[in-house]
Amino acid sequence: MRAANASLGSARFDLIIFDNDGVLVDSEPHANLVLAELLTELGVATTYEESVAEFLGTSLPYVRSFAERRLGAPLPEIFERLYHDRLFERLRGRLEAVDGVASALRRIRQPRCVASSGSRERIEFTLREAGLWEEFRHAVFSGDDVPRGKPAPDLFLYAASSMGVPPARCAVIEDSPLGIQAAAAAGMTSFGYAGATAKERLAMASVLFERMEELPFLLR
Ligand SMILES: [Mg+2]
Repeated sequence: MRAANASLGSARFDLIIFDNDGVLVDSEPHANLVLAELLTELGVATTYEESVAEFLGTSLPYVRSFAERRLGAPLPEIFERLYHDRLFERLRGRLEAVDGVASALRRIRQPRCVASSGSRERIEFTLREAGLWEEFRHAVFSGDDVPRGKPAPDLFLYAASSMGVPPARCAVIEDSPLGIQAAAAAGMTSFGYAGATAKERLAMASVLFERMEELPFLLR
């Protein structure tokens, strides 16, 4: 863990904004496996590693436009539906909460919400599967709520204003470079979770940490 800079020593947060995939639910390995297989079937040869490198923390419209540039042709209209169906099928009964996050949530005293590029349906499904739905059901902000996904600040700003907290009093917990960029663009303090993501990819986070057990202390 990199030490927080001096100005963060007195930082206090009134709202903790959690990314979902890779921060609350351990879905990224499954999602990238399904995505790599599907894109390959559709003619865009993609390995699991390439999927992680290109698509972690992005949204499906980004994946579609990236794949269409590679392919030089439109993907089928049912691409998104196929992806969701296969992903849900894969996650059912397999998805777990990120290691240590359930006990960290019990120790964090501030109000919290989830802000994810995923659809509302996907957020609810994954949080239910991971046993975390009750923690967040009243404070869910999804990619469906705003026109521009991360790295635009829109979703985080929308979450903060809906919860009545100024951006400067918000902490964002993220595992993707795009999410960290979005937090910075929103004027929020970012906490980069390098549990599965390489630390170098999150170097621009305000604070970097590797174990969820650390988070309650970092947020005090
Ligand atoms: Mg994520």
